[in-house]
Amino acid sequence: MIIVSSCLAGMKVRYNSTDCLDETIHQLLDNNRAVAVCPELLGGFSTPREPAEIVGGDGGAVLDGTAKVMDRLGNDVSEMYIQGAYKTLEQARNAGASIVVLKENSPSCGSSMIYNGAFAGQKIPGEGVTAALLRRNGIEVISEEQLPARLGELGVLDK
Ligand code: SF4
Repeated sequence: MIIVSSCLAGMKVRYNSTDCLDETIHQLLDNNRAVAVCPELLGGFSTPREPAEIVGGDGGAVLDGTAKVMDRLGNDVSEMYIQGAYKTLEQARNAGASIVVLKENSPSCGSSMIYNGAFAGQKIPGEGVTAALLRRNGIEVISEEQLPARLGELGVLDK
C-alpha cells in the first residue's frame, strides 16, 4: 500500500481550498493501491486556512525545536504541524505503507524543496515536517515528481 497526499489525489484540502490533482495518483486511489492523507487536516487545521512556511530551518529542525512553522499572520503553528506528522506516521504504519508520495514544496509534505519562510514565493532545499518525521522512522518518502520513474518497480498500476 502507498500513502499519498490528499491534494494530489484531487481532494480540495489545500490552504486555499484547491487541489493539486495528479492523474496517476488519482488512479492509484481508484485501484485501491493508495490511501490519501492530509497531514495538516490531521493536525487540526480546516480548509481554507492561512498559508504557512517554515522559518529558521526545515521540517527536521521543527521536530528538533530549532525552527518554527509560522502562518502568514505571524502565528506559531508548529505544534499542529508536528501533531499532523505523527498522525500521518501512525496511518502509514497502520497501512503497512512501503512508500509515501507527498506533495513537493509544502511545509508538511515537501520532500526536497520548501518555501524559505519569507512568504515571497522563494524555495530552498529542505523537507517538510511530515516528510522529515516519516524518514526518521524509516519510511521512504518521494514527491509526485519522482513517482513516474518508480511506477514500474512498485507495480501499483496493474490490477
Ligand atoms: Fe496537500 Fe500535504 Fe498540504 Fe495536505 S498538508 S494540502 S496533503 S500538501
